[in-house]
Amino acid sequence: MPALARAKAVESILSLLAPGFLREQREKERRVSAQEERLSKIKIACASKPHGTRARYAAGCKCMLCRAANSRYETVRALARKNGDANPIVSADRARRHLAELSAKGIGRHSVHEACDVSEQILCAIIYGQRENIRARTERRILAVDEGARRGKCLMPAAPTWRLLRELLRDGYSKVQIVEWMGGKRALQIKHGEGARITAATAMKVERVYNLIQAGKLRRTR
Ligand SMILES: [Zn+2]
Repeated sequence: MPALARAKAVESILSLLAPGFLREQREKERRVSAQEERLSKIKIACASKPHGTRARYAAGCKCMLCRAANSRYETVRALARKNGDANPIVSADRARRHLAELSAKGIGRHSVHEACDVSEQILCAIIYGQRENIRARTERRILAVDEGARRGKCLMPAAPTWRLLRELLRDGYSKVQIVEWMGGKRALQIKHGEGARITAATAMKVERVYNLIQAGKLRRTR
């Protein structure tokens, strides 16, 4: 049997016996090629950096200026490590698992980004496996995100919400009525004043009531 036909036969048997194995294999290949593509992009970008930069050194230039830049960098890093400020490169696996767990709880990468200030681009690359490694500090920041980052619990400035509320109050809607429409049972408790912050959930409820009123879909009962 010619080699190609044999390879095809093996693949079709594998796909029958162990479909998960083949899928995993393909996924692995895809990740490796994405990683390679990323590295080559970085290399190309680095190769256009001027001499005397560490990036150019990393792209393969070993001229005197680039070697000097690299050794300067190494010296600074070594000193930082000695002072306990190590920020080593670690596997992104733990962060990826943590992000998957958060996602299963309905906390997406946008909320994670807001909570830990790691860019959405980097979070995306970790989630989809284009990033195999990250800095320890990035990992720490991601692992520190918990359910408190749920979007509804994100704090935001209260001012825009108060603008809507004041407009409704001016139009004669009572606070009791507004709270009822918001689905609440207690009095209107929304922080007030300079720099006051409220949860995104509360802001969304007020906005929803405001929009329904504007659309004429709510009738006063009080
Ligand atoms: Zn050079």
